[in-house]
Amino acid sequence: MRIEIAQGDITTFEVDAIVNAANHSMLGGGGVDGAIHRAGGKQILAECRRLREDTYPTGLPTGESAATTGGDLPAAHVIHTVGPVWAKTKDKSDELRSCYRTALAVADEIGARRLAFPLISAGLYKWPKDDAIRVALTTLRDTPTQVEQATLVLFDGATYDLARQVAADLGL
Ligand code: ADP
Repeated sequence: MRIEIAQGDITTFEVDAIVNAANHSMLGGGGVDGAIHRAGGKQILAECRRLREDTYPTGLPTGESAATTGGDLPAAHVIHTVGPVWAKTKDKSDELRSCYRTALAVADEIGARRLAFPLISAGLYKWPKDDAIRVALTTLRDTPTQVEQATLVLFDGATYDLARQVAADLGL
């Protein structure tokens, strides 16, 4: 799988699926979640509600992923995943890695070959950005998948620069 790093608004990316840093409710929120629901329209929320009723009555667990339509987005699908809230006293890296792994597994199930990921947990959930980038890039690198291209999308220039630096340090 090719791993790329880009700066921009993930809702504009023309890929097969974009990944959403959602919350347990799957019913929308702030950050990238809000942006995806705003840009993608009501169909995404309708499918999230159905997933809640049929499959996740108590919410989508941390580290798991589920796909819906992309609605009005250029991407055909949205893969919703729930990142862990960063905590000083507990290492939740396994849960963060699980987000990337399960998103790739769902992409394989639906046949998505080009994906765009936001920097999961690094916004409202407060994960330190350099570590969030390292976890994202190493997990994408190490997970077997049919996905051909994964783009890590950084919203702002400073985080993009940091991601380029971390990628270089990792030899990617
Ligand atoms: P979380 O709750 O998992 O921390 P957030 O949405 O708050 O999720 O933030 C995750 C990352 O997504 C942050 O680095 C934030 O800057 C970024 N982000 C917010 N909006 C967008 C967007 N439209 N496109 C790409 N990245 C975004």
